[in-house]
Amino acid sequence: MLTLRQLFLANNAQTTDFPLLLEFERAEGVYMYDAGGKATMDLISGIGVSNIGHSNPYVIDAIKQQVDKYMHLMVYGEYVQTPQVRFAEKLVSLLPDSLQSVYFTNSGAEAVEGALKLAKRYTGRHQMIACYNSYHGSTHGALSMMGNEEFKQAYRPLLPGTSFIRFNHTGDLELITQETACVILETIQGEAGIRVPDLAYMQALRARCSATGTLLILDENQTAFGRTGKLFAFEHFGIEPDILVLGKALGGGMPLGAFVASSQIMGALKDNPILGHITTFGGHPVCCASGLASLEFLLKENLVSQVAEKEAIFKHLLIHPAIKQIRGKGLMMAIELESFELNKKIIDRCIENGIITDWFLHCSNSMRIAPPLIITPAEIEKACDIILESIRFYTN
Ligand code: PMP
Repeated sequence: MLTLRQLFLANNAQTTDFPLLLEFERAEGVYMYDAGGKATMDLISGIGVSNIGHSNPYVIDAIKQQVDKYMHLMVYGEYVQTPQVRFAEKLVSLLPDSLQSVYFTNSGAEAVEGALKLAKRYTGRHQMIACYNSYHGSTHGALSMMGNEEFKQAYRPLLPGTSFIRFNHTGDLELITQETACVILETIQGEAGIRVPDLAYMQALRARCSATGTLLILDENQTAFGRTGKLFAFEHFGIEPDILVLGKALGGGMPLGAFVASSQIMGALKDNPILGHITTFGGHPVCCASGLASLEFLLKENLVSQVAEKEAIFKHLLIHPAIKQIRGKGLMMAIELESFELNKKIIDRCIENGIITDWFLHCSNSMRIAPPLIITPAEIEKACDIILESIRFYTN
C-alpha cells in the first residue's frame, strides 16, 4: 500500500521537485502537530494567512453555524447573503470613506484581476504599471504585473501595455502619465524580501496618480489585518488607495479575497456591459462568516496594538554576525543572510528543530518571519533560540 506521501507525489500536482513533504494532523494557535504529537511552530502563518493562529474556536464556531444554515446558494452578487453583507459592512467601517464597496473573490490573484479590470474600465485606459520584484498572483493578469522576468518568460505573451518602475524610487514616478490606467504595488513588498517604502515616496506616488487620473491599487494581501502594526499598511503612509486588494488573512483561514473601491469606481463593473466581473464562489458565505469572526477576534483582543512590541522582541533577540540585516515592519520581517545556500541550510535545520520559516520568491538569501499575531513573548524567545542555534550550527 502506498503511503500518504507517495500518493501526494503521485496524484497531487506538484509545483516544485522539492516540496517540504511535512505531514501535520492538526493545528492550534501557533503550532502544527504531526501524527506522533510533535509540535512545529508556524513562524510564517501559512504564508501570511493565519494572523489569529490556527483553529481559533470563535472562528470555528462561526463556520459551523454558517454551515448549518447554508453554504453555496447562488453566484456572486445576486442574493442578499447575510455573511457577505455583515462582513462588507464591518470592513467598510474600518476603511476610509472612499473605500465603501467590497467585491469578494475566491483568492488574492482573482482580486488583483478584478482590480486591474476595474481600473481599465473606469479610466478607459489600458496601460498598467507595476514594480520590479513585485508579486501579485499567478493568474495571467496578475502574472503580467509580476516584476520578475524569470517567472514570467515561459508564459508569454502576457497582457500588453504593462511596464515597470523601481519600488521606492521617486524619479520613476514620471513614467506614470495620463495614459496610465493604474499603478499596482504592494504597500510593503513581500516576495521582494520585505521592502518598506519611504513615507515621502508613497505620498509622491499618491500625488502623481491623482495628478494624472491614474488609479492607485494597493495590494495588501500580505500586509493587511494587523501584520505590520496597523490594521492596513497604507495607514503608515497617510495615503489612501483608489482600489485596495485583500486576501490571505481576510478569510480567517478560509479562501477569500476582495477588492475594495468607492461606489462610484466600482459602479463601472455593472454597466455597459453588465456583469463586468462575475464569479461563482467569490464571497462564499462560509468564508465570509469565517473572515468576519476572525476580524472581530483580532479587534476584540487588541492584537494589532501588540505587534510593534512583539517585533521589538524579535529584533532585540536576533543578533548574530551572520545576520546582515533585518528588514520589515511589525510581524512581517526578513532576516538577510550571506547567501541562499546558507539560508536554506538554516531554514532546514529550523524545521528539524520545530519551527517553520521560509525564504522569498524574489529574495532567496533572506528568511521569512511572519508568525501569527497571537504569538506570545515566550514563544518568540523560543523561536529566536532555535533560529540562533541553527545559525550558529552553520556559521561557527
Ligand atoms: N498579492 C500578494 C502581495 C501576494 O503575496 C499573493 C500571494 N502570495 C497574491 C497577491 C496572490 O494571492 P493568491 O495566492 O491568494 O492568489
